[in-house]
Order: sequence, then structure tokens, then C-alpha cells
Amino acid sequence: MRIHVIGCSGSFAGPTSAASSYLIEHVDADGRLWRVLMDLGSGAFGPLQNVIDPADLDAVIISHLHPDHYLDLTGLEVFWAYHSRTDLGKLPIHGPAALPDRVSGVLGREGHIPAGVSAAPFDYHTLTDGHRFSIGPLEIETRAVLHPVEAYGFRLTADGVTFAYSGDTDSCEALDELAAGADLFLCEAGYIEGRDDRFTGVHLTGRRAGEAAARAGVGRLALTHIPAWTDPGIPLAEARAVHTGPITMVQPMDIFDVSCSSTEEGAP
Ligand SMILES: [Zn+2]
Ligand SMILES: [Zn+2]
Repeated sequence: MRIHVIGCSGSFAGPTSAASSYLIEHVDADGRLWRVLMDLGSGAFGPLQNVIDPADLDAVIISHLHPDHYLDLTGLEVFWAYHSRTDLGKLPIHGPAALPDRVSGVLGREGHIPAGVSAAPFDYHTLTDGHRFSIGPLEIETRAVLHPVEAYGFRLTADGVTFAYSGDTDSCEALDELAAGADLFLCEAGYIEGRDDRFTGVHLTGRRAGEAAARAGVGRLALTHIPAWTDPGIPLAEARAVHTGPITMVQPMDIFDVSCSSTEEGAP
């Protein structure tokens, strides 16, 4: 399983990174490459096009309805609706129930759709806590996590390899369950100890991400969702103080090749 970091800036796009978006690739037993996009936050549709042709996407999964995780679906919808290819079909989008209304509310396309353009290029599927579904060879489990809005983390498994993504969350049991034994745990660390203590139930710090990784016994912890105003060395040091396993601070365009032996190639 290969993970491309498209954008990893926390809470809003930063000067050197778009907001959250990750591309997951996996080849099935017949040799067919599957491509699933996990979140498409503000600014991320641009750099995505440096990695793949978005027309090659098989599905998108959206963790929650904060703009730094879904807003660039508006660009993807225009891309899909107006594309010169007529064989694209509807793109499956898995997300919270309110996602279709949010996207159409931003686009405001009702009544202004030219002839020949798809009015509904996306095929929406609603996520719920404990939901399990598959996209090609990828088996996906969704868990509700602790955030001010309905929010999910994901656990993806294929051919014995497990990749877990926190989404946005503070410490919670569901996060530990999602991450349990994962070969790669992509975990947000949007806050830092001390500075952000007055906010609870919103984000993890590097320390709390490291503690979750230690409890879950993950192969590698990859910290993400660091806002532009935070020195990434701080959450990294916090995590290292409580977790002895390998830890990476993700950067835009990083590639993680995840294997069930908990080793990745291409990661810094
Ligand atoms: Zn976020
Ligand atoms: Zn959020």
C-alpha cells in the first residue's frame, strides 16, 4: 500500500503545504491499481494534479466537514462534471451525511448547469461509526472520533497491511482501536502542550499522539496536521518523549510504501 502526502498543513493551507489530503494506492490480485483519496482540504486539489490525473480516482473518503478536509471537493466536482471524457461515471464519495449539501451550497450550481454537463457527478455514501466497506482491495473501517463536529478516523487494510488515519481528534478509545497494531499510523498533532491546553476535545498534541501510538503498538507513527504557526519540531519532540518507535513528521509529496513488516521505503 502506497500513501502519497498531497497536503498536510493543519487547520488551513500554509505557505508550503495545502491542507489535509492523502492519496492511497494499492494493486489488487489482478494487477489493477486502485486509487482512493482520503480528505481533500483547502488548496489540495492543485498539488493532487502533480501526482495523478484526478480522472483516475476510484473514490474519495472525507473524514469530517471542516474546510481543511473537504473544501477542494468543489474543484474536483467541477473537474468531474465538465470533463471532456464521457466515460467517467459518477465518482463515489464517502463522507458525513451533510457533505452533499455543503458542497452544493458552496458551488451554488442549481439552475446554472449548461446542457451536457452532469448535474450530479458524485455518488455520495454516508459514513457512520463502525461502518465497514471496501473499495477494490482496500477494506475500510470507520470510527467516530472526538472533535467538535461529527468526525471519523479510518483503518484501511489490504493484503495484511494496515494503515490507520486519525482524522482530526483528541484522545479517545476509538482512536486507540483504529490504530491498534497498524503498520503505519498517520496521526494529527495540531496542538502543542501548554500553548493549547485551554482547548479540549479538539486536537491531539504531539504528546497525546505519541501516547496513542504507544498504546496501539504501531509500526511507524507519522505526525501530520501541523498548522503554519507551529514549529514542527515541538510536536515531534513531544511524541518522541513518550513513544520509542519510529516517528516521521510528514511533508508535502512524501511517499510511504507500507508493508506488513512495518517498514516503509521512501519516507524521510
Ligand atoms: Zn483539520
Ligand atoms: Zn477538524
